[in-house]
Amino acid sequence: MLQIQTFIGGIFDTNAYLLRGAQGNILFDAPTGSAEWIRSLGVKPDILLITHGHVDHIDDAAKIKRLFEPQVAYHRGSLPMITDPDFFRNFGFYLEAEPVQPDFFVEETDEVVFCGVKFRVLLVPGHCPGSVCFHSQANHFLIGGDVLFAGGIGRTDLPGGDHALLIKGIREKLLLLPDETKVLPGHGPITSIGEERRMNPFLRPEDPLSTRLK
Ligand SMILES: [Zn+2]
Ligand SMILES: [Zn+2]
Repeated sequence: MLQIQTFIGGIFDTNAYLLRGAQGNILFDAPTGSAEWIRSLGVKPDILLITHGHVDHIDDAAKIKRLFEPQVAYHRGSLPMITDPDFFRNFGFYLEAEPVQPDFFVEETDEVVFCGVKFRVLLVPGHCPGSVCFHSQANHFLIGGDVLFAGGIGRTDLPGGDHALLIKGIREKLLLLPDETKVLPGHGPITSIGEERRMNPFLRPEDPLSTRLK
């Protein structure tokens, strides 16, 4: 049985999830304060998987790497955001996190095993390039990053954002998952694919914004 714990940290109330599996511990995202949280739990993360390169999700990543030496992994598309301190500055944003190099890249794939747990990796850009979701079919959950929220979707007004692309990715990849799939998002409460399919105002067929931007 898998155990998943949630931590909420930083000025954007960003969620981190710690999955404790039989063969190791996976930390998803590293918001401000998550290093201290991990330390307080007395757990060593074996892998740090980063859903995407926004500062609020990686603020403690370098610190976690130093303290616990997990393997750090993210999608290639996130590389400039995570390793180039000038990336956001060039767009006029002065939020900064310490860069962290990947030990390996996460690719979109039907099957990859992290710490003994099988995942499907879905590449869903639009919130930003290189944004990935991790789906555990056997355990019926999706680590969603900032793609799909309870009643919302990721913002698309930051560098590399694309509303139509995000909606397309959600429809073509996330909404294909079973209704009972729990969505563990980067912000806000846990929801489910079924709930968002029925209720999410951004995913209605008549959504005027998605039509206009196509
Ligand atoms: Zn984000
Ligand atoms: Zn975020």
